[in-house]
Amino acid sequence: MKSYDAIVIGGGHNGLVAAGLLAKAGKHVIVLEAGDRVGGGARTVEFHPGYRTSGLAHLVNRLAPEVVGELGLDPSLFAGEMAPTVVLDSETGPAILRGAYGEAIDGVSPGEAIAFGRMRAKLMMQAGILGRFLAKRPPRPGETGLGSLVDLGLAGLGLIGKGRDEARDFARMALMNVADIADEYLEDDRLKGLLAFDAVLGIHLGPRSPTSLLGLYYRLTGTALGARGGQFLPRGGMGSLAEALERAAIDHGAEIRVNAAVSRIFSAGGRIEGVALADGEKIASTLVVSAIHPVATLRRLLAPGDIDTGLSISLKNVRSKGDAAKLHLALDRVPDFAGVSSADARGRLVIARNVRHVEEAFNPAKYGEFSADPVMEITLPSLVDPSLAPPGGAVLSAVVQFAPYELREGWEVGRPKFLAAIMGALERHAPGIGASVVASELLTPVDIERRYNMPGGHWHHGELQVDQLLLNRPTFGVAGYDTPIDGLYLASAGSHPGGGISGLPGRNAARHILSRRAA
Ligand SMILES: Cc1cc2nc3c(=O)[nH]c(=O)nc-3n(C[C@H](O)[C@H](O)[C@H](O)COP(=O)(O)OP(=O)(O)OC[C@H]3O[C@@H](n4cnc5c(N)ncnc54)[C@H](O)[C@@H]3O)c2cc1C
Repeated sequence: MKSYDAIVIGGGHNGLVAAGLLAKAGKHVIVLEAGDRVGGGARTVEFHPGYRTSGLAHLVNRLAPEVVGELGLDPSLFAGEMAPTVVLDSETGPAILRGAYGEAIDGVSPGEAIAFGRMRAKLMMQAGILGRFLAKRPPRPGETGLGSLVDLGLAGLGLIGKGRDEARDFARMALMNVADIADEYLEDDRLKGLLAFDAVLGIHLGPRSPTSLLGLYYRLTGTALGARGGQFLPRGGMGSLAEALERAAIDHGAEIRVNAAVSRIFSAGGRIEGVALADGEKIASTLVVSAIHPVATLRRLLAPGDIDTGLSISLKNVRSKGDAAKLHLALDRVPDFAGVSSADARGRLVIARNVRHVEEAFNPAKYGEFSADPVMEITLPSLVDPSLAPPGGAVLSAVVQFAPYELREGWEVGRPKFLAAIMGALERHAPGIGASVVASELLTPVDIERRYNMPGGHWHHGELQVDQLLLNRPTFGVAGYDTPIDGLYLASAGSHPGGGISGLPGRNAARHILSRRAA
């Protein structure tokens, strides 16, 4: 039986980051990836001959600078042009946020631009305080060591340093819904619609659901191109980022095996012993880092009885049903979005007219249905990297929010109807786009689950809601990357701080493991 110092299950970007850091620390590491390529949700795919795009994640807005620095990645690989956000409105024309999340805004009144600036400054300051906790292991009760106390103290001081009113306002706002905050500051429906959309993207909440502001805070804790709230479309699609992480892991000495699905995790006497692959091969290690969905790790791969009933039940109750679909269109020409210049079309286009539009798109999802008037985020990656489409053609990549994992009528029946609803919305903003479609691919959460081995097809490998955060992420008892099995750790988006292409769960887990083993 082969043996390694460390086995990493899953070659998504978090698995690659964890593997790279463990290998850099001198460990003999193997990454076992079920798919035929690494990258997970950060792969670039060819969905029609000659047309390539980011398979799931298409915008970089939170890759952690710590990951780039600690793995020694070439920062120029993660450079790009700051993408504007264009909120489409076929009646009034678009509102355009420039710089990092609207440092300047076009298409709104001067008074509204000032109001947005005030709100932006407030949210950025608050997100900056929350952001301190992202690149760290979450605090755990009973284990509140000096480090955690210092972090909490610094966060508190950070707030107090802003003045008593700011501290009070933060306590007031933190668990509010995004719609009420948008109403407090703004008049413009398009700006309110954007905030509502961004707060719930990838999460099963509507903008009027309590605590929905947290999703926007999470979005704004991310940095890109050196700026909080920044975003860009990577050249070559998100796969170029995964390839850089793969190269770094290999350069640091990690081995990578694809087509190697792990089907069992072995332990004896509460200690990890290794894993078995689907073909029966066994690989031994006293350290297994699982960078796949935490519930799959602990409830499917471990033998029944390896974890106690209480933990098993709380894992069963982790909410992880995806709510976002992914659309890819191969087009024979560049679409023309009304009122959007060709320079701005290189950014992110959002269809979310107002808060009500987003809320009404959420409502049917509660009952296993989709809206006939969906909300979505659109990119045209081939405008940034023409090699992604044949000459003259274009690729459209859209994340369509509120596509329930469990569709009442079933996705076989529902998919063509949902595609027609999405195309109807696109046609309203880019007349003629339907006639330019060469091929389309619509991935529902069920398709995402199958294609990416991502249970529930969930953006974050588990809802990013207040009861599933920090010391409860993925659930109490297995927060902070540890599990009850000595030597088995969690490291995917399902662990703190959550999903998106940040690399932080993988990085934090690797650092925790190394610090424990050094102690
Ligand atoms: C529709 C959609 C759009 C998104 N858009 C964005 C975006 O624009 N920007 C952004 O930052 N984020 C986005 N995300 C979120 C992002 O894709 C995820 O949070 C991220 O991919 C999680 O990374 P990960 O490495 O933790 O897990 P994954 O990417 O899920 O990777 C896990 C890997 O483990 C492998 N695996 C699973 N089971 C096994 C097994 N038993 N044995 C071996 N290997 C296994 C899988 O094949 C996969 O390669 C989006 C998500 C969705 C669903």
